[in-house]
Amino acid sequence: MSKSTVLLKHHLKQLKLPTMLSECEKTAAGAAKANLDHLGYLLQLCELELVDRERRAAERRLKAAKLPASKTRDEFDFSARPSPNKPLVLQLVAGDWIDKRENLLLVGPSGTGKTHVAIALAMAACLAGRKVRFYRVTELITTLLEARDEKSLLRLRSQLAKQDVVVLDELGYVPASKAGAELLFDLIGQAYECQSLVVTTNLPFETWIEVLGSERLTGAALDRLTHRSVILEFHGESYRLQDARRRRRKRS
Ligand code: ADP
Ligand code: MG
Repeated sequence: MSKSTVLLKHHLKQLKLPTMLSECEKTAAGAAKANLDHLGYLLQLCELELVDRERRAAERRLKAAKLPASKTRDEFDFSARPSPNKPLVLQLVAGDWIDKRENLLLVGPSGTGKTHVAIALAMAACLAGRKVRFYRVTELITTLLEARDEKSLLRLRSQLAKQDVVVLDELGYVPASKAGAELLFDLIGQAYECQSLVVTTNLPFETWIEVLGSERLTGAALDRLTHRSVILEFHGESYRLQDARRRRRKRS
């Protein structure tokens, strides 16, 4: 390696351009063969760095989102159930609702694919440059209660407020404690018109007050959640059940 190449690599490292560092020689050889001028070469190298940087950032965002599994829209079998309708889900993948700070409410019985679609939309958002954080509601309430005891609630709240999208999975499966519910409703209030919430729930809206308690707080939270929101209804029987039955049929 010539002295100037060694120096160049040193500088690229200092400048934190790892892809340009690893690719500069190979690209230079290719550019020489293609008779590319200096600016053309530099352009190629910059493009490689940019593409790689975006990929690394998307990976970081995906990791920070703490999704419980990897589920994509392509893995979702729309023919298996009458709703949600495919064009609407595909439209949501594009992410306009996030720019408009709208909420998504995914409502329906257990096993109908609510969490699957929530994860798929969260992944698409991460890949498109949005900050996402996924929580199961019980986990979030525990985290909020712990933060309150440790007096780190402010920090947690400001961390959450920095997200473009917060997913609240399984709202209402376990009736929350009063203190927990209040912290959760606070969060819903804070998010209102500042960021998007994605809520999955098996509770029909009419039963929220009964299950979550506190007519005033639940009413206010529901009001904020549903104002400027897209509601996806999931119907039918559990996909897990259908799937198990299909397999059994195949075996016999
Ligand atoms: P819910 O959150 O509504 O209880 P999940 O999203 O957890 O349901 O779905 C249960 C399981 O079935 C998951 O493994 C999910 O990937 C799968 N699943 C549900 N609906 C579909 C579907 N239409 N196509 C493919 N997989 C599905
Ligand atoms: Mg679920």
